[in-house]
Amino acid sequence: MNLQTTGKPVAVVGSGVIGRSWAVVFLRAGCPTALFDTDRAQLERASDWIRSHELEGREHLRVGDSLADAMKGAVYVQECGPEQLPVKQKLFADLDRVASPDSILASSTSAFDMTEIARDVRHPGRCIVAHPVNPPHIVPVVEVLGGERTDPAVVAATREFLHAVGQVPVLLRKHIHGFLLNRLQFALVREAVHLLKSGVTDLDAIDTVVREGLGLRWALLGPFAVADTNSDGGARTYFGGHEEWIMNLMNQLGPTPDFDKALIEGIGQALDAARGETPREDVRAWRDRMVVEIRRLKAENPLRKTQEQPL
Ligand code: NAD
Repeated sequence: MNLQTTGKPVAVVGSGVIGRSWAVVFLRAGCPTALFDTDRAQLERASDWIRSHELEGREHLRVGDSLADAMKGAVYVQECGPEQLPVKQKLFADLDRVASPDSILASSTSAFDMTEIARDVRHPGRCIVAHPVNPPHIVPVVEVLGGERTDPAVVAATREFLHAVGQVPVLLRKHIHGFLLNRLQFALVREAVHLLKSGVTDLDAIDTVVREGLGLRWALLGPFAVADTNSDGGARTYFGGHEEWIMNLMNQLGPTPDFDKALIEGIGQALDAARGETPREDVRAWRDRMVVEIRRLKAENPLRKTQEQPL
């Protein structure tokens, strides 16, 4: 299984927020891309959205009339259906029946175990999780992991392919609910809610501390690599010199809060007030433009060689 060369046909199943963005990733890399969705109106909206991008390869977008039609010639399939286990199980069983026997079937699932998703599949060796970050055509990390029956050669080929189309695949050795990104994200959100609920501060202060503090460094270096730059002696003296207060602080972090409707409504109201008259769409478009700029600036990077994971 060699997908290293881009330019091979791929298929995207489900054309919502994630599916349409994956299509841009593949077209941009020169892969003829077939898109399919059971909702024809959504499929048309997604196609219009994709064609509205300044993309050299956009003429290679094809809209599938059926699941089987979309699979024609596809060597890699990115499933982007709803995040419901029975739906994904059925979709994978269908994909396995209609896709070419040697094509890879990758799921964008945010949480499910491929062992479960591929339960009813006849060829589970080719089924794999490739979990993107929203939107994948702007944010490159993809969490890659197989199920218990996934062929290791498929894991390697998926990684190579995602790398070749411009993404940054990160391999997980085993399934864990929420994978890496959402576990890290919600560890922070859990403590942020604890701080809000305890009356320590307000939502704006928490967003400011991340936006103007932690986030500036994290966009360049992860939490461990930041620690390595926080002390002249590196992480050993940063962590090592402060282990007592770090342990005390970790022991004081809050328990899991009730993530109830009232709390979520309160967060929504505070965010509406902070955004004022500015449309949310404008903020999102600005965010995506700035992420592209940050990635461009990050090309100048003394750690680039070691940050690029060897394939
Ligand atoms: P979405 O609801 O926007 O899109 C899902 C699409 O799938 C819809 O257009 C729907 O009509 C279509 N669909 C439903 N059943 C189908 C079927 N049988 N065949 C083909 N299409 C079908 O969802 P989304 O946010 O794009 O998420 C898609 C997947 O990506 C989910 O597994 C989700 O967990 C994952 N994901 C989402 C995000 C995010 O932030 N939205 C981030 C990472 C991963």
